[in-house]
Amino acid sequence: MLLHIGIDDTDSPKGGCTTYIGMLLVGQLEALGCRFIDYPNLLRLNPNAPWKTRGNGSVCLRVEIYEDSEAEIKRLVVEAVEAGAEFECENTNPGVVFHIGEVPRELKVFHDEVVQTIVHLEDAERLITEHCAGAVGWKNRRGIIGALAAIGGTLEGDHTYELLTYRVRGNRGSNRLVDADSVRRVETSIPETFNSVDPETGQVLIAPRGPDPVLYGVRGETPESVFRAMKMIEVGEPVESWCIFRTNQGTDAHLNRSYSISELKPRIPSVVTGFVEGRFKVIEGGHVIFTICDGSGRIDCAAYEPSGGFRETVSRLREGDEVRVAGGVRELEKGLTLNLERLEVLSLAIPHRLVNPRCPSCNGSTESMGRGQGLRCKRCGYRGAEMVRISEEIQRDLNVGVYLPPPRAERHLTKPFTRYGKEKSGAPSAPVKPWHSD
Ligand code: ZN
Repeated sequence: MLLHIGIDDTDSPKGGCTTYIGMLLVGQLEALGCRFIDYPNLLRLNPNAPWKTRGNGSVCLRVEIYEDSEAEIKRLVVEAVEAGAEFECENTNPGVVFHIGEVPRELKVFHDEVVQTIVHLEDAERLITEHCAGAVGWKNRRGIIGALAAIGGTLEGDHTYELLTYRVRGNRGSNRLVDADSVRRVETSIPETFNSVDPETGQVLIAPRGPDPVLYGVRGETPESVFRAMKMIEVGEPVESWCIFRTNQGTDAHLNRSYSISELKPRIPSVVTGFVEGRFKVIEGGHVIFTICDGSGRIDCAAYEPSGGFRETVSRLREGDEVRVAGGVRELEKGLTLNLERLEVLSLAIPHRLVNPRCPSCNGSTESMGRGQGLRCKRCGYRGAEMVRISEEIQRDLNVGVYLPPPRAERHLTKPFTRYGKEKSGAPSAPVKPWHSD
């Protein structure tokens, strides 16, 4: 029979990683004769959730099992979480959910809700009672929300892959020895990988900082591309283990709901269409802010300092430009602000300014002779008592199109430019070997 195992919220800023627990379980489940029907799924949930620990990632393992092994498998999963989760962290509240059979529509809808909104524990508990084969929640039990969402995240639409490598225990917490030049070669020689290097700064983006067990994670369109990348990436420390995950990273899965400005709520990833009002301003820290309005209200949009050149694009917007913006909504003292994750310029206003006309006699430049007294040529002295300033179109240094912050400032879920046009659909029938270490 088919068993889905959802796991969430086992990590903390001090260590741990839900993918690592998932990877350890892969080997244990295969040893029990389980057959994986998909790569382990790594589902990133609403990045604006107030209780997220780090990347807000949950994991689902989908396996064909012998019916008489169900109890043993559940025991293994619970033991793996108890051994690997960071229970001492206040914000770490692990959860595990088990589901048998096909994934019902209600759980798929629940997954979308958890990625795109804020969901409460009672909603998860009601669905588990109705549909699932059990759940275990630790501490305040909030992890079962993400664990249930992971089961519902069957990734039948757009998806990507990430190959994660893990460090041996003794090295965790020390600097990661990943050769930057080898990563840059991956970026140029395997076009099916993405977000390995930031194009603005050349910074290598595959290795996290911090004490978690991940050595690096390389992202790509296919399992083959990330496997080839691993073979090219040179590291100066032993790799304990590795595993390929299928994931919603880089798909914009969270930025799927459009709202009018009056409907916006804090922490909900939102897409809003409106018109730019006034000029941008630069606030302390180098963040660029502009306001849009849509008839229902107005909201500030922010491009933060780490978004580099993206801020320059934002500062070229002018009053009257029509834009579609997307990002998380934050509640600040003065009201709501949308943190820009994507800017789409739909149409440009044609702004005008008043200028003095050229001299009709010699084409020289003219100047005012005083209020209401016409203009005089600065070159030949021609006087035009009836001449007035004329309106001239201002040339724009911005085009209609989509603009994104650079990869170093992107969320896990944000779809990078290099993925536009590469969207996929359909889940695989089984993972293709080799997809994890022995
Ligand atoms: Zn003149």
